[in-house]
Amino acid sequence: MSIKSNIDNIHKIVSEYKARLITVSKTKPVEQLREAYDAGIRDFGENKVQEIVEKEQQLPNDIRWHMIGHLQRNKVKYIAPFVYLIHGVDSLKLLKEIDKQGQKLNRKINCLLQVHIAEEETKFGFSVEELNQLFTEPDFTAMDNIVIKGLMGMATFTENAAQIRKEFKGLNELFEGLSKEHSSMTNVDMEILSMGMSGDYQIALEEGSNMVRVGSSIFGARNY
Ligand SMILES: *Cc1c(COP(=O)(O)O)cnc(C)c1O
Repeated sequence: MSIKSNIDNIHKIVSEYKARLITVSKTKPVEQLREAYDAGIRDFGENKVQEIVEKEQQLPNDIRWHMIGHLQRNKVKYIAPFVYLIHGVDSLKLLKEIDKQGQKLNRKINCLLQVHIAEEETKFGFSVEELNQLFTEPDFTAMDNIVIKGLMGMATFTENAAQIRKEFKGLNELFEGLSKEHSSMTNVDMEILSMGMSGDYQIALEEGSNMVRVGSSIFGARNY
């Protein structure tokens, strides 16, 4: 299967749910991103700062770059000028740094708060309690150069579809609740629920995802 036909197949499913497809191109060479670009893709997801910066410099300006990986505070400055959406915001400290860099550039940087929904210890993200706490922090309320566009989560890596579905359903409920509760805050504009990858995006869409992040089903397996 070609990159284009993979994209066409996935896009058909994703658009039935009126969701957005983020093409995850981490580890893949620029030529393959160009192929996806030529097939109509404008949203690319990367998880390494150096890689996203290098690719951004080589590819067309109308691409929306999504930072989907864990982001270190000292690297925010490299992506702040161009990043379209940061999916993996998992602490108030990181949010403060993003706000600071946004202020320097006089831009508002779109962020998703990552929520820990999986059973594995290794996945990053806020717990539900931490998340509720965050919205009440005075430091958070004062930030003018970030916009919280929604939530992101990764389900447990398992064959158990019921488990995955339960986790996505929980994240959707959290998203709906927070959207209502905090809709009057000036730096909150909850419209994106980023959940679902190659192995589980169908379930994610059924459970309310409106943004899926798909890599290997488009480009094939990654060699690290
Ligand atoms: C790599 C990655 C993806 C895409 O994974 P695939 O299984 O290749 O589709 C999605 N989200 C995040 C956060 C990732 O790191």
